[in-house]
Parts: sequence; C-alpha cells; structure tokens
Amino acid sequence: MMDSITSGPLYQNTITNLIDAGKVINLNRNVLERLKRPRRALTVSIPVKMDDGKVHVFTGHRVQHNQTLGPYKGGLRYHPSVDLSEVAALAALMTFKCSLLNLPLGGAKGGVPVDPGQLSKNELESLTRRFTSELSPFIGPDKDIPAPDVGTDSQVMAWMLDTYSLESGYSQTGVVTGKPVEIGGSAGRESATGLGVVYVAQRALETQKKKISGATMAVQGFGKVGMHAAIEAYALGGRVVAVSDVSGGLLNERGINIPDLVRYVRENKVVKGFPDAVAISNEDVLELDVDVLAPCALDGVITEKNCASIKAKIIVEGANGPTTHEANTYLSEKGVMVIPDILANGGGVVVSYFEWVQDLVWLFWNEEEVRNKLREVMFGSFDKVWAFSQKEKVNLRLAAMATSLMRLEKAMLLRGQAW
Ligand code: GLU
Repeated sequence: MMDSITSGPLYQNTITNLIDAGKVINLNRNVLERLKRPRRALTVSIPVKMDDGKVHVFTGHRVQHNQTLGPYKGGLRYHPSVDLSEVAALAALMTFKCSLLNLPLGGAKGGVPVDPGQLSKNELESLTRRFTSELSPFIGPDKDIPAPDVGTDSQVMAWMLDTYSLESGYSQTGVVTGKPVEIGGSAGRESATGLGVVYVAQRALETQKKKISGATMAVQGFGKVGMHAAIEAYALGGRVVAVSDVSGGLLNERGINIPDLVRYVRENKVVKGFPDAVAISNEDVLELDVDVLAPCALDGVITEKNCASIKAKIIVEGANGPTTHEANTYLSEKGVMVIPDILANGGGVVVSYFEWVQDLVWLFWNEEEVRNKLREVMFGSFDKVWAFSQKEKVNLRLAAMATSLMRLEKAMLLRGQAW
C-alpha cells in the first residue's frame, strides 16, 4: 500500500533493489518485511522569526530506518525538493550503507524543504537551532547522530552541537559528525566522501587493467562531494575533462586545472565563466565518453530517458540514488560498471564513524591516519562487493545490497527481531 513514506520514486527504487537483492541471497522473509519500512518517522514544525520580523513555519523530517547494528546515523538535507518519502528512502540507504561498510551504526536521514541560499545567516542559524530542539529527544551520541548532506555543512553541525549541548547542560561533541575540527571534528572529514569516490574508482579501474593516473573523468556536481572527488582525482594524475554545477557544465578535453577551478569557484560561487574550458550543458556532462563518470549531486539523474546515451565505462555514484532501477539494469547489461551509492559514497559516513569514535574517547588522529584507514575500508568493501558480483554473476548494485543484507539478516535474527 502506498502512503506518504513509500510513494516517492527514490523509495520505490530502493525497495525494488532491496527485493531483488533479497532474492539473490534468499533473504529471510520477515527480515525483508521489516526492512521495507522505517522504524520511526518524525515530522516537526519549525517556526523561525525571519529578518523582516514575520514568523515562517518550516517543516522538518527525521526518519530513523533501522538501529540493529548500532545508533542511527545519517545526514540532514536542506533542499527545496526534500519530502518525507525521499528522506525515508535516504534513511534506508544509510542502513544498507553502514551495514555494507561494516560500521556499528544504523540508518537515518533528515531534511527540511528549503533553499538555504535564500536564507540569511541568522535565519539559517535559527532554523537549525529550532529544528535541533525539536529533534533533541530523539538524537544523541548513543541514539542518532546527524551529519551534513546536500545544503548543510560544518557550520550547521556546529549550531546543532551547541543547541543540543545547551539543552543537556554539558558539551556533547559526539551528537553530530562533520563538524569543524576546532570543536571535535575529524581531520579529513570534509574531503572524505570525494576521496572515497576516487578510491573506489581506482579499484574499479584496476579491474579493467587501468590506472587512475591518465584516466578521464567527468564529475557532475561541484559541491562537497564532487569538488573533493575532482581534487583527489587530479592529485593522483586523473584527467578531469568535465565538471558541472547548477550554473551549467565545463569541458576541456586536455583536462581542467582543478586547483585553478577551485580558486575560481571560491571567488565566483559557481563554475560558469571559468576561462580555460568551454561551456556545455549539465546533461552533456553525463553523456561524455570518459573512463569514469561520477554523478555527485542529486538523485534520479541517470534514467531510462538518457541511459542509452551514456558512454562512460565506469559510473561511481557520489550522490545517493542518481541512477534509477531501469537505467542501472540497462547499463549493467551493456557492460558498464555502475558502482552503487551505498559503496561509492560511503567515504563520508566512514570518516563520520571515525569522528564519532574519536569524540567518544577524546583522542584524535591526524589526516594521514584518517586517509589510510579510509582507504583500507573502501578498498576492502569494493573487493568484497566485486568478488560477490563475480561469483554470483550479478551486477554491482545487487552485489552491494546482498552483501549488506547478509550482515543485517544475521544481526536481526540474532537479536530476535525476525524469525
Ligand atoms: N550525508 C552523508 C551520506 O549520505 C554522510 C552521512 C553521515 O556521515 O552520517 O552518506
């Protein structure tokens, strides 16, 4: 039965993947039924006194999907397209991601339908603090640990930490991850998702006897994930020929100078107008003939409409849910390696886990230690999924889901959550 949780396209997509992967491993029927729905979905009203003196009431969601393996974990998204069903789908993806990456964490996600670019800093702070207050009975270092996602950043996490700590009466740095290093954040967290994308691309290229150095890459989205993926790929000698953001795309077949582009974006906010490249559309960036395509923005960008025009040999999903079920099946059958979100963009939550652990023990690692530990988890997880897909002759999305479900199934049966 469809309702406000299950009705959205990303939720339907996620459930289809869950059911298909369940068939591959003959997943316990009762485990499957439980995983099809979140444990808890909370919707709150967030009144904010805007700069013009008027109160505007925003809506906020936090969906806690599953906590069998540990406390709920997942980002908070500020974006106009947020709705309950999308948040619920993203929460389920977090459960599968944490299980696949062998983290002792469950899955959750939150969001507010708002364009943060339209708010002043004061309005954004008020919105975040009030949302945190509404969520505070349900979050905490042992319960549910938010993090940045689309439209939120380390400053938003700092306000959440402060509000939650004020309410508790003492500083609780472990309540959020992705916060500034000055207040308990981890070295290497900002670049973690993008770096994870590159580690996974590196391993995938190796299966095709190629190296990241010299490989061509197109990156859709130049925000927290895409920008760092481009920086890390460039640093390893990758040729980033195209990038895009909301303002449009850029192409330079000799390879874009990424440090120059990063400086340009810091000054101009968008990639549009960068001198050393030609302007192309956002859609064109997805259809270039490159070794690696990394969609690093929103969900539902590779669909049955454009999948026949995709020429990349490897797709690394830096975003959550960028490829629809139909497009994934089509591309996989054509021999394209589609590395699914729960593996490809897992670097973010892996370093969030490192951050949370560091906060709990008050002992901090340097950036090199974090990057080395991250590489170990990403390479190991890729290899596990790759081996499963080769052995069972299934595509990488099914292999990743199945690998994740095997761990979850065991844990749920041991805990007596299904029979
Ligand atoms: N928002 C990121 C994701 O979708 C990170 C979540 C986290 O670190 O908890 O994986």
